[in-house]
Amino acid sequence: MIKENLERIKATIPEHVTLVAVSKTKPISDIQEAYDAGHRTFGENYPQELRDKHEALPKDIQWHFIGHLQTNKIKYIIPFVTLIHSIDSANLLEAVNKEAKKHERVADCLLQFHIAQEETKFGLDLEEARQLLESDTFKNMENIRICGVMGMATFTDDEVEVRKEFKHLKAIFDTLKQDYFAGQPQFKEISMGMSEDYPIAIEEGATLVRIGSKIFGPRHYNV
Ligand SMILES: *Cc1c(COP(=O)(O)O)cnc(C)c1O
Repeated sequence: MIKENLERIKATIPEHVTLVAVSKTKPISDIQEAYDAGHRTFGENYPQELRDKHEALPKDIQWHFIGHLQTNKIKYIIPFVTLIHSIDSANLLEAVNKEAKKHERVADCLLQFHIAQEETKFGLDLEEARQLLESDTFKNMENIRICGVMGMATFTDDEVEVRKEFKHLKAIFDTLKQDYFAGQPQFKEISMGMSEDYPIAIEEGATLVRIGSKIFGPRHYNV
């Protein structure tokens, strides 16, 4: 099942787009199945769950952290995480920098933007991002690297609205690239699109899509 789902989805994704298989709440055996089918890039939302899965599974997996991150939990993921998609404040970025320094590594991060209509979703707006990127604190952070942007569209069947929100994120990316990251090739990622809206996200410029339920089936939260 998982193998077939992966193959079906991969057939719809162009080569320049990376599929992040979102395995939150799913057992190790499901991830192993995707791994055995050749998949290596996975996304998780909860730091301790991610740490435990990293310990249990093959070490050539690239783990992306995509959930809301609390500063006191950064320590669980910093030693091995490939990309943190969800930087939504200057404080969080500073804390990631500090933890990465302890581990003598550079942590790759995306800035998360609030593009949806729902107030409950996390993320910066352009003005907040500008303040962050222009601050002296940011300029002194040597253990993080900003690689692009991330956003979640409104949960709705309204494709016009979803497309508008993805266009908005792409415009934010272009603005930041021009104003702060010109000539910096690492600033290239646009993480947008989930099971229900990823085809639209790819049309609007996504380089990373985060797909969970279309690969692993619906999630059951029992906590
Ligand atoms: C859970 C989650 C996904 C995957 O959602 P699906 O609808 O199951 O594909 C993608 N991105 C984020 C940030 C998530 O929390």
